[in-house]
Amino acid sequence: MQKLQQLYAGKAKSVFATEDQDYVVLSFRDDTSAFDGERIEQLSRKGEINNKFNAFIMEQLAVAGIPTHFEKLLSANEALVKNMKMIPVECVVRNVASGSLVRRLGVEDGMELNPPVFEFFLKNDALHDPMVNEYHIATFGWATDEQVQRMKALTFEVNQVLKKLFADAGMILVDYKLEFGVFKDEVYLGDEFSPDGCRLWDAETRKKLDKDRFRQGLGGVIEAYEEVAQRIGVPL
Ligand code: 5GP
Repeated sequence: MQKLQQLYAGKAKSVFATEDQDYVVLSFRDDTSAFDGERIEQLSRKGEINNKFNAFIMEQLAVAGIPTHFEKLLSANEALVKNMKMIPVECVVRNVASGSLVRRLGVEDGMELNPPVFEFFLKNDALHDPMVNEYHIATFGWATDEQVQRMKALTFEVNQVLKKLFADAGMILVDYKLEFGVFKDEVYLGDEFSPDGCRLWDAETRKKLDKDRFRQGLGGVIEAYEEVAQRIGVPL
């Protein structure tokens, strides 16, 4: 399918139209951002690694019965996906306390969370992605109640699949962020799942293998992403 004009450029991906208005091309760039886009750097090969990583995860989720926007890989940096209307909230599940939860509530970093915590955030860099709840989503019309329930249920289903997938490869899925969209009146998982939007720790050493290496200036960012990909069997 031919790639046409650019429709949108996000912080790490760009979206292009195709001849078929039901599908768009997602192009994964090497841009790596932190702190709501205040810091951006190019990390060589990140676009390709995240595109292939995301394709692998989306395929695993589809096999487990989770509806996703992913259609197929088109090239090293590009994938074909459904052209969805995105719901402007981020869905976060936390299995272990870290990041903003620790800063907000003063709980210990690394504390196991049982049951896992679910949080909604508004996608808005200018407002620093504030936490919102189901009342905000209903009042401001960001999604229907039915869509909210569906997003929550699917986000927890993803947890069951991916916690095991990473555990089997010696890693802890600490937390992750998902985004959903609507295509032909149905809710689908959209955006991407990659080490840019989750926390993964080595189960033995608790070494960070995700974007926190970039956020915290720990170095070895791409090497960590490659290690995760290789451990779970992503063909790079
Ligand atoms: P926190 O709220 O602790 O900053 O983030 C929780 C989880 O969601 C982390 O895995 C983090 O990577 C992911 N996350 C939250 N907001 C964003 C975002 O705006 N972009 C990306 N890529 N990931 C996010």
